[in-house]
Amino acid sequence: MNATVGSATLAGVEGRPVTVEVHVGPGLPCFGIVGLPDASCREARDRVRAAIVSSGLKWPQQRVTVNLAPSALRKVGSGLDLPVAVAILAADGQLDPAAVADIAFVGELALDGRLRKVPGTLPLVAALRQRTVVVASAAAGEARLLGRHRVLAAPTLRSLVAAVRHEQPWPDPPPAVSAPEGDAVPDMADVRGQALGRLAVEVAAAGNHHLLLVGPPGAGKTMLAQRLVGILPPLGTDEAIEVTRIHSAAGLPVPEGRLIRRPPFRAPHHSASLVSLIGGGTAALRPGEISCADHGVLFMDELGEFPSDVLDTLRQPLEEGQVLVCRARASVVFPARFLLVAAMNPCPCGGDGAPGGCRCTETARARYSSRISGPLLDRFDLRVGVDRPDAGELLGTDGAEAGESSTTVAARVEAARELARRRGVTANAAIPGSRLDELVPLVAEARSLLEAHLRQGLLSARGVHRVRRVARTLADLGGREGPVGAEDVHAALALRSEPFAAAEVTW
Ligand SMILES: [Zn+2]
Repeated sequence: MNATVGSATLAGVEGRPVTVEVHVGPGLPCFGIVGLPDASCREARDRVRAAIVSSGLKWPQQRVTVNLAPSALRKVGSGLDLPVAVAILAADGQLDPAAVADIAFVGELALDGRLRKVPGTLPLVAALRQRTVVVASAAAGEARLLGRHRVLAAPTLRSLVAAVRHEQPWPDPPPAVSAPEGDAVPDMADVRGQALGRLAVEVAAAGNHHLLLVGPPGAGKTMLAQRLVGILPPLGTDEAIEVTRIHSAAGLPVPEGRLIRRPPFRAPHHSASLVSLIGGGTAALRPGEISCADHGVLFMDELGEFPSDVLDTLRQPLEEGQVLVCRARASVVFPARFLLVAAMNPCPCGGDGAPGGCRCTETARARYSSRISGPLLDRFDLRVGVDRPDAGELLGTDGAEAGESSTTVAARVEAARELARRRGVTANAAIPGSRLDELVPLVAEARSLLEAHLRQGLLSARGVHRVRRVARTLADLGGREGPVGAEDVHAALALRSEPFAAAEVTW
């Protein structure tokens, strides 16, 4: 007898519908799966058989053939365990094939018959053609996020079979709880002093300008970067769906019962593998850290310590907002629109803790700064030196008040983003060069200032564009409409220092 049920498999962060067809017929007892299954899919044979038997159901003593269609589509992961098991039971007459024909199933089976949640539940469910989907109880909240499907959930294969046979009602899915957004984001108010660093973070958030912080250890570079997500606007619905989909496919925690609304903050270590950063993998092609930072912040501390192949690979996502990951038998495009914040010490010894305390040779310093290629350095609209705060600032005994709170700064950032949206861009960093004259007109003094920098070779033509965009953001944050004035261009130039040259003067 034949039976067919629906399911889906992951291709990158997208789901693709899969039809599971099973034939149970005469012949020596054997069990084969065809249709491009990968290794984890082939292991499904053992899990499915064990789960059916330990659930008190009968393993057919006949020839069992499973076909996963379409055959050209590569099937990855363990989420096809459950649809294969259900189709086998239906083809063997233990379930009514008509009762499961219009239902999709997504889930992994444990050997004892329990249903397990699989990575990528959200994109898998999004790809289903069927209106009704059955998932593991633990996956019900995520499966319901899109709200397009009737989601049924069961803790075990046994309870699922009983519900399909109308022997028992479907188990109540766990209640949809709206979990809080996890750990609180640290507040800008904690940052004392650091006027330039604070300004740089605010401008980065408002204009989506990539930011390089250069300073000795303990200067608060990480502290500033971590606070950036707290002043970025919350994700819109489309962004939230995309980010939640990516985190789900990456196997990262997804909040129970709702989409991720806070921009993600990812801080991969420089020793992380290329695959974990960019995406890929041998079995399923998983999104990497740069995609998990989509619509959020990618923080690369000690930028100079990252291998050069990693830094080279950043160019495509920085240009295009996505990354193409190729493996022998598949290639996938992952979204990767992140705000890049990088931090570096001014030299290999980090300044040795005190001004003038650098012990590095000229050669060592030159080699260190050359690790960041010119094109990558050029990507940073904002390049800012941060000093170690002095003791008075740290302890708050110098009379300086606590900094503005993230709520106050976020309101200015949101207002600046709204101005950018009215210009037809998501943020000022995305203003095309061809529209700069229209969207960022300059007063005469500002124009001649930039021309002087260009003539003296202090700025490239691209550099001039970048300074203009940052100046636009500064004017927007200050509520200054009309042509951008010389003071905003001056400030934008100050936020684009030559980090290593400046470091030599300071340390
Ligand atoms: Zn040094």
